[in-house]
Amino acid sequence: MTPLETESGVRRYGLFIDNEFIPASTETYIDVTNPATGEVWAQVPDASEADVDRAVASARKAFEGDWAGWRAADRAKFLIRFGQAIADNADEIAQLQVDENGKLIREMAGQARLMPEYFNYYAGLAQMPTGNTNPLHLKDIFNYTVREPLGVVAAITPWNSPLLLLVWKLGPALAAGNTVIAKPSEITPVSTLRIAELAAEAGLPPGVFNAITGLGGPGAALTTHPGVDKIAFTGSTATGQAIASAAGKSLKSVSLELGGKSPNIVFDDADLDSAMNGLIAGIFGASGQTCMAGSRILVQDNIYDEVVEELVIRTERIKVGNPQDDTSEMGTIASKAQYDKVLHYIEVAKNEGAKLVAGGSPARVEGFEDGLFIRPTVFANVRNDMRIAQEEVFGPIAAVIPFTDEADAIRIANDTEFGLAAGVWSQNIQRAHRVGAQLKAGTVWINNYRKTGYATPFGGYKQSGVGRENGPNALLEYTEEKSVWVDTGQGVKDPFNPRA
Ligand code: NAD
Repeated sequence: MTPLETESGVRRYGLFIDNEFIPASTETYIDVTNPATGEVWAQVPDASEADVDRAVASARKAFEGDWAGWRAADRAKFLIRFGQAIADNADEIAQLQVDENGKLIREMAGQARLMPEYFNYYAGLAQMPTGNTNPLHLKDIFNYTVREPLGVVAAITPWNSPLLLLVWKLGPALAAGNTVIAKPSEITPVSTLRIAELAAEAGLPPGVFNAITGLGGPGAALTTHPGVDKIAFTGSTATGQAIASAAGKSLKSVSLELGGKSPNIVFDDADLDSAMNGLIAGIFGASGQTCMAGSRILVQDNIYDEVVEELVIRTERIKVGNPQDDTSEMGTIASKAQYDKVLHYIEVAKNEGAKLVAGGSPARVEGFEDGLFIRPTVFANVRNDMRIAQEEVFGPIAAVIPFTDEADAIRIANDTEFGLAAGVWSQNIQRAHRVGAQLKAGTVWINNYRKTGYATPFGGYKQSGVGRENGPNALLEYTEEKSVWVDTGQGVKDPFNPRA
Protein backbone atom coordinates (compact mmCIF):
# COMPACT_ATOMS: atom_id res chain seq x y z
CA MET A 1 0.00 0.00 0.00
CA THR A 2 1.53 3.27 -1.09
CA PRO A 3 1.02 6.24 1.20
CA LEU A 4 0.01 9.57 -0.36
CA GLU A 5 3.00 11.21 1.32
CA THR A 6 5.82 10.24 3.64
CA GLU A 7 7.38 12.73 6.00
CA SER A 8 10.38 11.71 8.08
CA GLY A 9 9.35 8.06 8.08
CA VAL A 10 5.67 8.72 8.93
CA ARG A 11 3.37 7.43 6.19
CA ARG A 12 0.34 9.58 5.46
CA TYR A 13 -2.64 7.73 4.01
CA GLY A 14 -5.83 9.01 2.40
CA LEU A 15 -9.41 7.84 2.37
CA PHE A 16 -10.21 4.87 0.14
CA ILE A 17 -13.16 5.87 -2.07
CA ASP A 18 -14.03 4.60 -5.54
CA ASN A 19 -11.10 2.19 -5.45
CA GLU A 20 -8.44 4.83 -4.93
CA PHE A 21 -6.72 6.64 -2.14
CA ILE A 22 -7.77 10.28 -2.10
CA PRO A 23 -6.80 13.12 0.19
CA ALA A 24 -9.52 14.13 2.64
CA SER A 25 -11.09 17.58 2.51
CA THR A 26 -9.76 18.14 6.02
CA GLU A 27 -6.28 19.16 7.09
CA THR A 28 -6.67 17.32 10.39
CA TYR A 29 -4.68 14.10 10.65
CA ILE A 30 -4.64 11.46 13.35
CA ASP A 31 -1.40 9.83 14.47
CA VAL A 32 -1.19 6.05 14.43
CA THR A 33 1.17 4.92 17.20
CA ASN A 34 2.88 1.57 17.65
CA PRO A 35 1.98 0.74 21.27
CA ALA A 36 5.05 -1.44 21.76
CA THR A 37 7.55 1.25 20.79
CA GLY A 38 5.63 4.49 21.26
CA GLU A 39 6.61 5.47 17.72
CA VAL A 40 4.17 7.32 15.44
CA TRP A 41 4.44 5.46 12.13
CA ALA A 42 1.40 6.58 10.14
CA GLN A 43 -1.21 9.31 9.87
CA VAL A 44 -4.75 9.14 8.52
CA PRO A 45 -7.30 11.90 7.92
CA ASP A 46 -10.07 12.77 10.35
CA ALA A 47 -12.74 12.71 7.63
CA SER A 48 -15.19 15.60 7.51
CA GLU A 49 -18.93 15.43 6.82
CA ALA A 50 -18.16 16.33 3.21
CA ASP A 51 -15.90 13.26 2.99
CA VAL A 52 -18.63 11.11 4.50
CA ASP A 53 -21.08 12.50 1.90
CA ARG A 54 -18.64 11.60 -0.82
CA ALA A 55 -18.18 8.04 0.45
CA VAL A 56 -21.95 7.56 0.77
CA ALA A 57 -22.64 8.99 -2.71
CA SER A 58 -20.03 6.63 -4.17
CA ALA A 59 -21.46 3.60 -2.33
CA ARG A 60 -25.02 4.48 -3.36
CA LYS A 61 -24.03 4.94 -6.99
CA ALA A 62 -22.28 1.56 -6.97
CA PHE A 63 -25.28 -0.08 -5.31
CA GLU A 64 -27.58 1.19 -8.01
CA GLY A 65 -25.04 0.76 -10.80
CA ASP A 66 -22.60 -1.98 -11.79
CA TRP A 67 -22.85 -3.96 -8.59
CA ALA A 68 -26.63 -4.44 -8.92
CA GLY A 69 -25.93 -6.40 -12.11
CA TRP A 70 -23.71 -8.93 -10.38
CA ARG A 71 -25.39 -12.29 -9.95
CA ALA A 72 -25.03 -14.12 -6.63
CA ALA A 73 -22.63 -16.47 -8.43
CA ASP A 74 -20.45 -13.50 -9.43
CA ARG A 75 -20.41 -12.18 -5.89
CA ALA A 76 -19.48 -15.63 -4.61
CA LYS A 77 -16.56 -15.87 -7.04
CA PHE A 78 -15.40 -12.43 -5.98
CA LEU A 79 -15.51 -13.35 -2.27
CA ILE A 80 -13.30 -16.36 -2.94
CA ARG A 81 -10.82 -14.18 -4.88
CA PHE A 82 -10.90 -11.60 -2.08
CA GLY A 83 -10.17 -14.31 0.49
CA GLN A 84 -7.29 -15.51 -1.65
CA ALA A 85 -5.91 -11.95 -1.88
CA ILE A 86 -5.98 -11.77 1.92
CA ALA A 87 -4.30 -15.18 2.19
CA ASP A 88 -1.59 -14.07 -0.26
CA ASN A 89 -0.93 -10.96 1.83
CA ALA A 90 -1.56 -12.46 5.27
CA ASP A 91 1.88 -11.63 6.66
CA GLU A 92 1.65 -7.97 5.70
CA ILE A 93 -1.91 -7.66 7.03
CA ALA A 94 -0.99 -9.32 10.31
CA GLN A 95 2.02 -7.04 10.64
CA LEU A 96 -0.03 -3.89 10.05
CA GLN A 97 -2.47 -4.79 12.77
CA VAL A 98 0.30 -5.66 15.24
CA ASP A 99 1.89 -2.27 14.57
CA GLU A 100 -1.47 -0.64 15.30
CA ASN A 101 -2.67 -2.44 18.43
CA GLY A 102 0.18 -4.53 19.83
CA LYS A 103 -1.57 -7.89 19.48
CA LEU A 104 0.86 -10.82 19.32
CA ILE A 105 2.10 -11.56 15.82
CA ARG A 106 1.49 -15.26 16.43
CA GLU A 107 -2.16 -14.63 17.31
CA MET A 108 -2.60 -12.20 14.42
CA ALA A 109 -0.97 -14.53 11.91
CA GLY A 110 -3.55 -17.18 12.86
CA GLN A 111 -6.37 -14.66 12.49
CA ALA A 112 -5.16 -13.48 9.08
CA ARG A 113 -5.07 -17.09 7.86
CA LEU A 114 -8.61 -17.63 9.12
CA MET A 115 -10.14 -14.56 7.48
CA PRO A 116 -10.39 -16.07 3.97
CA GLU A 117 -12.47 -18.91 5.45
CA TYR A 118 -15.19 -16.42 6.36
CA PHE A 119 -15.35 -15.25 2.75
CA ASN A 120 -15.42 -18.83 1.48
CA TYR A 121 -18.31 -19.61 3.81
CA TYR A 122 -20.39 -16.59 2.69
CA ALA A 123 -19.48 -17.29 -0.93
CA GLY A 124 -21.25 -20.63 -0.45
CA LEU A 125 -24.25 -19.04 1.25
CA ALA A 126 -24.55 -16.29 -1.39
CA GLN A 127 -26.04 -18.84 -3.76
CA MET A 128 -28.33 -20.57 -1.30
CA PRO A 129 -32.03 -19.83 -1.76
CA THR A 130 -33.25 -17.44 0.93
CA GLY A 131 -36.87 -17.11 -0.20
CA ASN A 132 -39.90 -19.33 0.32
CA THR A 133 -43.13 -20.18 -1.39
CA ASN A 134 -45.87 -19.72 1.16
CA PRO A 135 -49.12 -21.71 1.39
CA LEU A 136 -51.91 -19.17 1.81
CA HIS A 137 -55.47 -19.11 3.12
CA LEU A 138 -56.56 -17.82 -0.33
CA LYS A 139 -57.32 -19.72 -3.50
CA ASP A 140 -55.74 -18.80 -6.83
CA ILE A 141 -52.97 -16.72 -5.32
CA PHE A 142 -49.36 -17.78 -5.37
CA ASN A 143 -47.08 -16.11 -2.82
CA TYR A 144 -43.34 -16.14 -2.58
CA THR A 145 -40.71 -14.20 -0.69
CA VAL A 146 -37.38 -12.93 -1.89
CA ARG A 147 -34.48 -11.42 -0.02
CA GLU A 148 -32.96 -8.24 -1.39
CA PRO A 149 -29.88 -6.34 -0.24
CA LEU A 150 -30.50 -3.41 2.12
CA GLY A 151 -28.34 -0.91 0.27
CA VAL A 152 -25.42 0.96 1.83
CA VAL A 153 -24.02 -0.56 5.02
CA ALA A 154 -21.76 1.38 7.40
CA ALA A 155 -19.39 -1.01 9.20
CA ILE A 156 -18.01 0.74 12.30
CA THR A 157 -15.32 -1.24 14.12
CA PRO A 158 -13.22 -1.06 17.32
CA TRP A 159 -9.47 -1.28 17.81
CA ASN A 160 -9.07 -4.63 19.48
CA SER A 161 -9.67 -6.86 16.43
CA PRO A 162 -10.26 -4.38 13.62
CA LEU A 163 -9.82 -6.83 10.77
CA LEU A 164 -11.63 -9.92 11.98
CA LEU A 165 -14.58 -7.82 13.13
CA LEU A 166 -14.65 -6.09 9.75
CA VAL A 167 -14.57 -9.44 7.95
CA TRP A 168 -17.54 -10.61 10.06
CA LYS A 169 -19.52 -7.76 8.48
CA LEU A 170 -18.05 -7.71 4.99
CA GLY A 171 -18.64 -11.40 4.23
CA PRO A 172 -22.43 -11.44 4.66
CA ALA A 173 -22.93 -7.81 3.56
CA LEU A 174 -21.21 -8.29 0.20
CA ALA A 175 -22.60 -11.81 -0.28
CA ALA A 176 -26.10 -10.35 0.04
CA GLY A 177 -25.32 -7.64 -2.54
CA ASN A 178 -24.88 -4.54 -0.37
CA THR A 179 -22.20 -1.91 -0.67
CA VAL A 180 -20.11 -1.14 2.42
CA ILE A 181 -18.38 1.86 3.98
CA ALA A 182 -15.93 0.83 6.70
CA LYS A 183 -15.05 3.24 9.51
CA PRO A 184 -12.30 1.67 11.62
CA SER A 185 -11.25 2.94 15.02
CA GLU A 186 -8.91 5.92 14.98
CA ILE A 187 -6.36 3.73 16.80
CA THR A 188 -6.26 1.03 14.09
CA PRO A 189 -7.19 2.55 10.71
CA VAL A 190 -4.37 1.48 8.38
CA SER A 191 -5.05 -2.26 8.24
CA THR A 192 -8.65 -1.58 7.14
CA LEU A 193 -7.44 0.71 4.33
CA ARG A 194 -5.23 -2.14 3.12
CA ILE A 195 -8.15 -4.59 3.15
CA ALA A 196 -10.18 -2.14 1.06
CA GLU A 197 -7.33 -1.87 -1.41
CA LEU A 198 -7.09 -5.66 -1.64
CA ALA A 199 -10.82 -5.86 -2.41
CA ALA A 200 -10.29 -3.47 -5.32
CA GLU A 201 -7.32 -5.51 -6.53
CA ALA A 202 -9.50 -8.64 -6.37
CA GLY A 203 -11.94 -7.03 -8.81
CA LEU A 204 -14.61 -5.23 -6.81
CA PRO A 205 -16.17 -2.35 -8.77
CA PRO A 206 -15.45 1.19 -7.50
CA GLY A 207 -17.64 2.29 -4.59
CA VAL A 208 -18.72 -1.18 -3.47
CA PHE A 209 -16.30 -1.04 -0.56
CA ASN A 210 -15.07 2.35 0.64
CA ALA A 211 -13.06 2.96 3.81
CA ILE A 212 -12.97 6.27 5.63
CA THR A 213 -10.97 7.16 8.71
CA GLY A 214 -11.42 9.50 11.63
CA LEU A 215 -12.43 9.94 15.25
CA GLY A 216 -16.06 9.51 16.34
CA GLY A 217 -17.27 12.27 13.95
CA PRO A 218 -17.42 10.33 10.68
CA GLY A 219 -18.97 7.36 12.51
CA ALA A 220 -21.66 9.62 13.93
CA ALA A 221 -22.22 11.23 10.51
CA LEU A 222 -22.73 7.79 8.93
CA THR A 223 -25.20 6.93 11.66
CA THR A 224 -27.52 9.81 10.78
CA HIS A 225 -26.83 9.95 7.03
CA PRO A 226 -29.99 9.48 4.93
CA GLY A 227 -27.98 7.58 2.31
CA VAL A 228 -26.99 4.81 4.75
CA ASP A 229 -29.40 1.89 5.23
CA LYS A 230 -27.73 -0.13 7.95
CA ILE A 231 -25.19 0.35 10.72
CA ALA A 232 -23.20 -2.74 11.64
CA PHE A 233 -21.34 -1.71 14.76
CA THR A 234 -18.87 -3.35 17.10
CA GLY A 235 -17.60 -1.32 20.02
CA SER A 236 -18.45 -0.13 23.50
CA THR A 237 -21.92 -0.28 24.98
CA ALA A 238 -21.95 3.52 25.47
CA THR A 239 -21.23 4.19 21.78
CA GLY A 240 -23.67 1.46 20.77
CA GLN A 241 -26.42 3.18 22.75
CA ALA A 242 -25.59 6.53 21.08
CA ILE A 243 -25.68 4.88 17.66
CA ALA A 244 -28.97 3.10 18.29
CA SER A 245 -30.68 6.33 19.34
CA ALA A 246 -29.21 8.34 16.46
CA ALA A 247 -30.06 5.63 13.91
CA GLY A 248 -33.55 5.35 15.40
CA LYS A 249 -34.39 8.84 14.11
CA SER A 250 -34.20 7.58 10.52
CA LEU A 251 -35.16 3.99 11.44
CA LYS A 252 -32.04 2.44 10.01
CA SER A 253 -31.41 -1.20 10.57
CA VAL A 254 -28.79 -1.60 13.32
CA SER A 255 -26.73 -4.50 14.59
CA LEU A 256 -24.66 -3.96 17.71
CA GLU A 257 -21.87 -6.12 19.12
CA LEU A 258 -20.99 -4.49 22.43
CA GLY A 259 -19.19 -5.02 25.70
CA GLY A 260 -19.08 -7.91 28.13
CA LYS A 261 -18.21 -9.01 31.65
CA SER A 262 -18.33 -12.69 31.00
CA PRO A 263 -18.34 -15.31 33.78
CA ASN A 264 -16.03 -18.30 33.47
CA ILE A 265 -17.49 -20.77 36.00
CA VAL A 266 -15.43 -23.58 37.54
CA PHE A 267 -17.23 -26.35 39.42
CA ASP A 268 -15.44 -28.67 41.83
CA ASP A 269 -15.92 -31.59 39.39
CA ALA A 270 -14.05 -29.86 36.56
CA ASP A 271 -10.91 -31.16 34.88
CA LEU A 272 -8.84 -28.56 36.69
CA ASP A 273 -5.82 -28.61 34.42
CA SER A 274 -7.96 -27.97 31.36
CA ALA A 275 -10.02 -25.39 33.23
CA MET A 276 -6.88 -23.50 34.31
CA ASN A 277 -5.80 -23.27 30.68
CA GLY A 278 -9.25 -21.99 29.73
CA LEU A 279 -9.27 -19.42 32.53
CA ILE A 280 -5.84 -18.10 31.53
CA ALA A 281 -6.66 -17.99 27.80
CA GLY A 282 -10.06 -16.47 28.57
CA ILE A 283 -8.75 -13.43 30.40
CA PHE A 284 -5.16 -12.96 29.23
CA GLY A 285 -5.56 -13.75 25.51
CA ALA A 286 -5.08 -10.49 23.53
CA SER A 287 -4.10 -8.88 26.86
CA GLY A 288 -7.71 -9.16 27.99
CA GLN A 289 -8.76 -6.73 25.27
CA THR A 290 -11.56 -8.87 23.91
CA CYS A 291 -15.28 -8.37 24.28
CA MET A 292 -15.59 -12.03 25.27
CA ALA A 293 -12.84 -11.94 27.94
CA GLY A 294 -13.65 -14.28 30.82
CA SER A 295 -13.08 -11.41 33.23
CA ARG A 296 -15.17 -12.81 36.09
CA ILE A 297 -13.79 -16.15 37.22
CA LEU A 298 -16.40 -17.87 39.38
CA VAL A 299 -14.98 -20.72 41.48
CA GLN A 300 -16.81 -23.16 43.76
CA ASP A 301 -15.85 -22.36 47.34
CA ASN A 302 -14.44 -25.80 48.23
CA ILE A 303 -11.75 -25.49 45.50
CA TYR A 304 -11.42 -21.70 45.62
CA ASP A 305 -8.04 -21.48 47.41
CA GLU A 306 -6.52 -24.22 45.27
CA VAL A 307 -7.68 -22.55 42.03
CA VAL A 308 -6.49 -19.10 43.08
CA GLU A 309 -3.09 -20.51 44.07
CA GLU A 310 -2.68 -22.28 40.72
CA LEU A 311 -3.97 -19.23 38.82
CA VAL A 312 -1.31 -17.09 40.46
CA ILE A 313 1.45 -19.56 39.56
CA ARG A 314 0.34 -19.72 35.93
CA THR A 315 -0.28 -15.97 35.67
CA GLU A 316 3.20 -15.17 36.91
CA ARG A 317 4.67 -17.52 34.29
CA ILE A 318 3.13 -15.54 31.38
CA LYS A 319 5.83 -13.91 29.29
CA VAL A 320 4.87 -10.31 28.55
CA GLY A 321 7.00 -9.07 25.67
CA ASN A 322 7.54 -7.69 22.22
CA PRO A 323 4.44 -8.57 20.17
CA GLN A 324 6.71 -9.36 17.22
CA ASP A 325 8.53 -12.05 19.18
CA ASP A 326 7.07 -15.52 18.67
CA THR A 327 7.92 -16.49 22.24
CA SER A 328 5.90 -13.63 23.80
CA GLU A 329 2.64 -14.72 25.41
CA MET A 330 1.09 -11.31 26.04
CA GLY A 331 1.66 -8.13 24.04
CA THR A 332 0.71 -4.56 24.82
CA ILE A 333 -2.35 -2.57 25.69
CA ALA A 334 -3.45 -0.93 22.45
CA SER A 335 -3.42 2.76 23.39
CA LYS A 336 -2.29 5.12 26.13
CA ALA A 337 -5.91 5.93 27.04
CA GLN A 338 -6.69 2.23 27.46
CA TYR A 339 -3.44 1.66 29.40
CA ASP A 340 -4.41 4.45 31.84
CA LYS A 341 -7.91 2.99 32.14
CA VAL A 342 -6.58 -0.47 33.03
CA LEU A 343 -4.19 0.93 35.66
CA HIS A 344 -7.04 3.02 37.05
CA TYR A 345 -9.20 -0.10 37.49
CA ILE A 346 -6.38 -1.80 39.40
CA GLU A 347 -6.58 1.06 41.92
CA VAL A 348 -10.39 0.90 41.95
CA ALA A 349 -10.27 -2.82 42.77
CA LYS A 350 -7.71 -2.33 45.55
CA ASN A 351 -9.76 0.50 47.05
CA GLU A 352 -12.88 -1.66 47.00
CA GLY A 353 -11.11 -4.28 49.10
CA ALA A 354 -10.36 -6.90 46.44
CA LYS A 355 -7.14 -8.81 47.20
CA LEU A 356 -4.37 -8.33 44.64
CA VAL A 357 -2.66 -11.72 44.28
CA ALA A 358 -0.77 -11.36 40.97
CA GLY A 359 0.46 -8.53 38.76
CA GLY A 360 -1.08 -5.15 39.42
CA SER A 361 1.47 -2.87 37.75
CA PRO A 362 3.08 -1.97 34.41
CA ALA A 363 5.44 -4.61 33.01
CA ARG A 364 8.97 -3.62 32.03
CA VAL A 365 10.10 -5.10 28.74
CA GLU A 366 13.75 -4.63 27.92
CA GLY A 367 14.31 -2.57 24.79
CA PHE A 368 10.67 -1.39 24.83
CA GLU A 369 10.77 1.17 27.60
CA ASP A 370 7.99 3.26 25.98
CA GLY A 371 5.75 0.24 25.41
CA LEU A 372 2.29 0.01 26.96
CA PHE A 373 2.78 -3.28 28.81
CA ILE A 374 0.81 -4.29 31.91
CA ARG A 375 1.43 -7.41 34.00
CA PRO A 376 -1.35 -9.96 33.93
CA THR A 377 -3.31 -9.30 37.10
CA VAL A 378 -5.48 -11.38 39.39
CA PHE A 379 -7.76 -10.13 42.14
CA ALA A 380 -9.15 -12.64 44.65
CA ASN A 381 -11.95 -12.23 47.20
CA VAL A 382 -13.98 -10.20 44.73
CA ARG A 383 -17.66 -9.64 45.40
CA ASN A 384 -19.91 -9.47 42.38
CA ASP A 385 -21.25 -6.06 43.36
CA MET A 386 -17.79 -4.47 43.20
CA ARG A 387 -17.02 -2.23 40.21
CA ILE A 388 -14.22 -4.59 39.19
CA ALA A 389 -16.89 -7.29 38.72
CA GLN A 390 -19.54 -5.11 37.09
CA GLU A 391 -17.67 -2.74 34.73
CA GLU A 392 -15.84 -3.78 31.59
CA VAL A 393 -12.11 -3.10 32.03
CA PHE A 394 -11.02 -4.49 28.67
CA GLY A 395 -7.60 -5.42 29.96
CA PRO A 396 -5.64 -8.28 31.60
CA ILE A 397 -7.43 -8.26 34.95
CA ALA A 398 -9.17 -11.31 36.37
CA ALA A 399 -11.68 -10.93 39.20
CA VAL A 400 -12.06 -14.24 41.07
CA ILE A 401 -15.39 -14.67 42.85
CA PRO A 402 -16.41 -17.63 45.08
CA PHE A 403 -19.79 -19.39 44.83
CA THR A 404 -21.43 -22.13 46.87
CA ASP A 405 -23.56 -24.24 44.50
CA GLU A 406 -25.16 -24.31 41.05
CA ALA A 407 -27.95 -21.90 41.93
CA ASP A 408 -25.46 -19.45 43.44
CA ALA A 409 -23.19 -19.70 40.37
CA ILE A 410 -26.09 -18.98 38.00
CA ARG A 411 -27.33 -16.09 40.14
CA ILE A 412 -23.88 -14.45 40.23
CA ALA A 413 -23.19 -15.15 36.55
CA ASN A 414 -26.43 -13.47 35.46
CA ASP A 415 -26.13 -10.58 37.90
CA THR A 416 -24.64 -8.19 35.33
CA GLU A 417 -25.92 -5.75 32.75
CA PHE A 418 -23.97 -7.67 30.09
CA GLY A 419 -24.73 -11.01 28.43
CA LEU A 420 -22.13 -11.71 25.78
CA ALA A 421 -20.56 -15.03 26.73
CA ALA A 422 -19.95 -17.52 29.54
CA GLY A 423 -17.83 -20.58 30.26
CA VAL A 424 -18.84 -23.65 32.30
CA TRP A 425 -16.23 -26.13 33.53
CA SER A 426 -17.62 -29.42 34.84
CA GLN A 427 -17.17 -33.08 33.96
CA ASN A 428 -20.79 -33.70 34.90
CA ILE A 429 -22.45 -33.39 31.51
CA GLN A 430 -25.96 -32.95 32.94
CA ARG A 431 -24.80 -30.15 35.19
CA ALA A 432 -22.85 -28.41 32.40
CA HIS A 433 -25.89 -28.33 30.11
CA ARG A 434 -28.28 -27.47 32.93
CA VAL A 435 -26.19 -24.49 33.97
CA GLY A 436 -25.52 -23.46 30.37
CA ALA A 437 -29.25 -23.38 29.68
CA GLN A 438 -29.82 -20.89 32.49
CA LEU A 439 -27.06 -18.44 31.59
CA LYS A 440 -28.23 -15.24 29.92
CA ALA A 441 -25.45 -15.07 27.34
CA GLY A 442 -25.23 -15.23 23.56
CA THR A 443 -22.42 -17.80 23.68
CA VAL A 444 -21.84 -20.58 26.23
CA TRP A 445 -18.64 -22.58 26.09
CA ILE A 446 -18.68 -25.91 27.94
CA ASN A 447 -15.21 -27.09 28.95
CA ASN A 448 -13.57 -24.64 26.52
CA TYR A 449 -13.46 -20.87 26.12
CA ARG A 450 -12.88 -18.02 23.64
CA LYS A 451 -13.78 -19.84 20.45
CA THR A 452 -15.65 -18.23 17.56
CA GLY A 453 -16.17 -19.27 13.95
CA TYR A 454 -17.93 -18.34 10.75
CA ALA A 455 -20.52 -21.11 10.96
CA THR A 456 -22.13 -20.23 14.28
CA PRO A 457 -23.73 -16.99 15.50
CA PHE A 458 -22.02 -14.57 17.86
CA GLY A 459 -23.70 -11.74 19.73
CA GLY A 460 -25.06 -10.61 23.04
CA TYR A 461 -28.04 -10.65 25.37
CA LYS A 462 -28.94 -7.53 27.37
CA GLN A 463 -26.47 -4.62 27.08
CA SER A 464 -24.03 -6.75 25.06
CA GLY A 465 -25.83 -6.14 21.82
CA VAL A 466 -28.57 -6.54 19.29
CA GLY A 467 -28.46 -9.06 16.44
CA ARG A 468 -25.96 -11.77 15.62
CA GLU A 469 -22.89 -11.99 13.40
CA ASN A 470 -21.60 -15.16 11.70
CA GLY A 471 -23.59 -18.26 10.87
CA PRO A 472 -26.16 -18.60 8.12
CA ASN A 473 -28.61 -16.07 9.56
CA ALA A 474 -26.06 -13.24 9.46
CA LEU A 475 -26.66 -13.12 5.72
CA LEU A 476 -30.34 -12.39 6.37
CA GLU A 477 -29.41 -9.48 8.64
CA TYR A 478 -28.14 -7.73 5.51
CA THR A 479 -31.38 -8.19 3.55
CA GLU A 480 -34.91 -6.90 3.29
CA GLU A 481 -37.59 -9.54 2.81
CA LYS A 482 -40.14 -8.92 0.05
CA SER A 483 -43.43 -10.78 -0.18
CA VAL A 484 -44.80 -11.14 -3.72
CA TRP A 485 -48.48 -12.00 -4.44
CA VAL A 486 -49.37 -13.38 -7.85
CA ASP A 487 -52.88 -13.98 -9.13
CA THR A 488 -53.14 -17.41 -10.74
CA GLY A 489 -56.93 -17.31 -11.15
CA GLN A 490 -59.32 -15.59 -13.54
CA GLY A 491 -58.41 -12.01 -12.68
CA VAL A 492 -59.64 -9.73 -9.88
CA LYS A 493 -63.38 -9.47 -9.32
CA ASP A 494 -65.26 -6.20 -8.78
CA PRO A 495 -64.73 -5.63 -5.00
CA PHE A 496 -68.20 -4.05 -4.54
CA ASN A 497 -70.09 -6.62 -6.54
CA PRO A 498 -68.10 -9.87 -6.28
CA ARG A 499 -70.89 -12.05 -7.76
CA ALA A 500 -71.01 -10.01 -10.99
P1 NAD B 1 -15.75 2.59 20.86
O1 NAD B 1 -17.20 2.40 21.09
O2 NAD B 1 -15.06 3.68 21.57
O3 NAD B 1 -15.46 2.84 19.30
C1 NAD B 1 -15.86 1.93 18.30
C2 NAD B 1 -15.97 2.66 16.97
O4 NAD B 1 -17.03 3.61 17.03
C3 NAD B 1 -14.73 3.44 16.56
O5 NAD B 1 -14.54 3.30 15.17
C4 NAD B 1 -15.11 4.86 16.92
O6 NAD B 1 -14.41 5.83 16.18
C5 NAD B 1 -16.58 4.88 16.56
N1 NAD B 1 -17.39 5.90 17.22
C6 NAD B 1 -17.11 6.60 18.35
N2 NAD B 1 -18.15 7.42 18.65
C7 NAD B 1 -19.09 7.23 17.69
C8 NAD B 1 -20.40 7.76 17.47
N3 NAD B 1 -20.96 8.66 18.29
N4 NAD B 1 -21.09 7.33 16.40
C9 NAD B 1 -20.58 6.39 15.56
N5 NAD B 1 -19.34 5.85 15.73
C10 NAD B 1 -18.61 6.26 16.79
O7 NAD B 1 -15.10 1.17 21.17
P2 NAD B 1 -13.54 0.81 21.21
O8 NAD B 1 -12.96 1.43 22.44
O9 NAD B 1 -12.93 1.06 19.89
O10 NAD B 1 -13.61 -0.79 21.39
C11 NAD B 1 -13.72 -1.42 22.61
C12 NAD B 1 -15.14 -1.86 22.88
O11 NAD B 1 -15.60 -2.72 21.84
C13 NAD B 1 -15.29 -2.69 24.14
O12 NAD B 1 -16.40 -2.24 24.89
C14 NAD B 1 -15.54 -4.10 23.64
O13 NAD B 1 -16.25 -4.92 24.52
C15 NAD B 1 -16.27 -3.84 22.39
N6 NAD B 1 -16.14 -5.01 21.49
C16 NAD B 1 -17.23 -5.81 21.30
C17 NAD B 1 -17.14 -6.94 20.50
C18 NAD B 1 -18.33 -7.84 20.27
O14 NAD B 1 -18.33 -8.57 19.29
N7 NAD B 1 -19.34 -7.82 21.12
C19 NAD B 1 -15.94 -7.25 19.89
C20 NAD B 1 -14.85 -6.41 20.11
C21 NAD B 1 -14.97 -5.28 20.90
